[in-house]
Amino acid sequence: MGLFKKEACCLCGGKTGLMDKKCLSGKVCKNCAKKMSPWFDNYKGMDKASLFQEKQMGIGNAVLNRNMPWQAYVRNKCKQTDESE
Ligand SMILES: [Zn+2]
Repeated sequence: MGLFKKEACCLCGGKTGLMDKKCLSGKVCKNCAKKMSPWFDNYKGMDKASLFQEKQMGIGNAVLNRNMPWQAYVRNKCKQTDESE
């Protein structure tokens, strides 16, 4: 029975399952889907290149969010130093 042939993820070449997102170029695995922007859900209208871009943007956002508390921390620390002098 070749009906449920496992498709490789069109972004990373990893394994995909029945529940994974379909896009114009094939399928997107869970790992790649996790890296997309949180608000992104338009897999069916996107080809491989657009999805790859979306994935990079998602990673960029994740890095940005992780940096935010750190930047706020540094800002506060600078303020405290200024006030004490
Ligand atoms: Zn993948």
